[in-house]
Amino acid sequence: MSLALAGCERQSSIPLGVQVYFSPKGGATEAVVEALDHATNRIRVQAYSFTSAPIAQSLVEARRRGVKVAVILDESQRTEKYSAADFLAHNDIRTLIDAQHAIAHNKVILIDGYLLLTGSFNFTKAAEEKNAENLLVINDPVLAAKYDANWQAHEQHSEPYAREYPAPRQGRR
Ligand SMILES: [Zn+2]
Repeated sequence: MSLALAGCERQSSIPLGVQVYFSPKGGATEAVVEALDHATNRIRVQAYSFTSAPIAQSLVEARRRGVKVAVILDESQRTEKYSAADFLAHNDIRTLIDAQHAIAHNKVILIDGYLLLTGSFNFTKAAEEKNAENLLVINDPVLAAKYDANWQAHEQHSEPYAREYPAPRQGRR
């Protein structure tokens, strides 16, 4: 009779400590996707510009397996042509806009209360392929809790995302 300890097997390959990835083409997007794929409970995101299809897709997949996902974006994402905001909102992800700052410039992903991803790396194709960026993947529940408190402070003054389209031309009556 097998004594397999179902559920006790850790599949985590997220290393302890800190990893760093340097763009362009330094594996930052892959690192983000891998971290998101490990999420089992909650993901919180803060982003300035968010256009990365693989990262958006990973968030949606996490949502579909029952992970609570919430995203706070800069107000520029209401009109940014390639923003992932519509895709996220349409896939049942709580998508908020923080318009309380000149720029909501944080780039942060918090996973399950212990994993923190941050750095200059925007969640965009350009950041992966063209820009000079850095991404830190930090496995540290204490530091993650500080970022989590800050995320919640921004959540308090954020509002639900709604796309803004250019005003229709005024027709003559
Ligand atoms: Zn804020």
